[in-house]
Amino acid sequence: MKKNEIYTAKIEDYTTEGSGVCRINGMAVFVPNAAVGDEAEVRILKSAKNYAFGKIERMISPSSDRQEPDCGIFNKCGGCTFRHISYEAELRFKQKRVTDAFTRIGGVSPEIVYPIVGSPCKDAYRNKAQLPITADKDGRICTGFFASGSHRVIPLASCSLQSEIFNEVIRVFTDWANEEGISVYSESEHKGVLRHLYLRHAKKTDELMVCIVINADSFKGEKKLVEKLKNNFDNLKTVVVNINKEKTNVITGKKNRVLYGDGYITDELCGLKFRISPLSFYQVNRDQAEKLYEIAAELADLKNGENLIDLYCGTGTIGLSMAHKVKKLIGVEIIPQAIEDARKNAERNGISNARFICADAAKAAKMLKSECVHADCIIVDPPRKGCDSSLIGTIQELSPKRIVYVSCDPATLARDVKLFEEKGYKTQKAIPVDMFPRTGHVETVVLMSRVEGK
Ligand code: SAH
Repeated sequence: MKKNEIYTAKIEDYTTEGSGVCRINGMAVFVPNAAVGDEAEVRILKSAKNYAFGKIERMISPSSDRQEPDCGIFNKCGGCTFRHISYEAELRFKQKRVTDAFTRIGGVSPEIVYPIVGSPCKDAYRNKAQLPITADKDGRICTGFFASGSHRVIPLASCSLQSEIFNEVIRVFTDWANEEGISVYSESEHKGVLRHLYLRHAKKTDELMVCIVINADSFKGEKKLVEKLKNNFDNLKTVVVNINKEKTNVITGKKNRVLYGDGYITDELCGLKFRISPLSFYQVNRDQAEKLYEIAAELADLKNGENLIDLYCGTGTIGLSMAHKVKKLIGVEIIPQAIEDARKNAERNGISNARFICADAAKAAKMLKSECVHADCIIVDPPRKGCDSSLIGTIQELSPKRIVYVSCDPATLARDVKLFEEKGYKTQKAIPVDMFPRTGHVETVVLMSRVEGK
């Protein structure tokens, strides 16, 4: 196949990232933003040995899943994958993605995968935004979104996925930045001050956090900005400066300086209050997180007198929401600020049976083993790369009756499930939960139980 050749093809599947796939002359051709069921003329853009990339040149017959994308920069921005198909079709894709991972990678029967739990709210669910600050073609300071797979910023002041109040904050902030005339950070030159506008909105309590990430220790007009934000937003709880002077594409630096308030906001989840600092992880879709935790609690099936270990606990949310059911809860997390939040969260909610350890999950599990800690149930909720293989070995030694695995990546989840199966655990149920509508991501909660006698 050669570049610029045009073939008639039917889109048959999606990749794990949600790009359309068709077969032309027996070869897989990836067609971004195509929908399963589209019949189209596909132009080859790039051809490798075993696969190619193409784009739809002319639609012959569109898929019945299609709908008109309702965002001006869909296709360009790296945020949404599925604004061009119905939500039902998106859920079908996510269900299949999880089932495929379990059968192909995990070697587990597809029957254990339950129907996906969809999100009632498909827009404005994101309670967090990290917006690169840039200048538009007229030199006006604005915020934007990274173009798919790159660090080029597309100027845009609003996004359908994020909390509506963010659009207002962006307007007030950029007006101020333009009045004040502060320089904008350039990644390629590593110069300029304003890097990111980082916003968090606690959906249940309505508290707002504004964090400005800068390539400096301070910026001109800090007080004026705080006044402006206070005058415009009654629910503003804190303004924080995050200092990031590194030449890196990691958004936040390690140092924060509080300009207003306490440096954190508080949200409610599963009837408990949680404080959220700029550097702590907090689920971006609060309402679905509540559902996710309810499912995790159901699968954990904790009984009076049992001990629970919550690995990769963030600010302690999952474990603390179940603490009232157990004798002892131990949470482990690597980010010091998150552990500090977790301890404060336990205190604030009157939970006295929780212990939090700031360490790598694999190392902490080894330490708990050497302390002869007994665990009836272990919850793991690792980042996308999944669990460290040494951690899986230590969990086997800790020998909990039940393991509840919360995962945001079906492939690494299925890989780890296979390892747990080899170590004497049987996968009972996998429940996909859609935490991130319109994107390609899908969360899954899995219950594995120890096979007695192994
Ligand atoms: N269970 C929490 C957080 C899940 S996100 C919740 O639902 O809110 C994953 C968490 O794992 C993050 O807070 C991240 O900081 C933490 N983490 C990443 N690598 C880790 C490691 N090696 N050991 C322990 N925690 C880690």
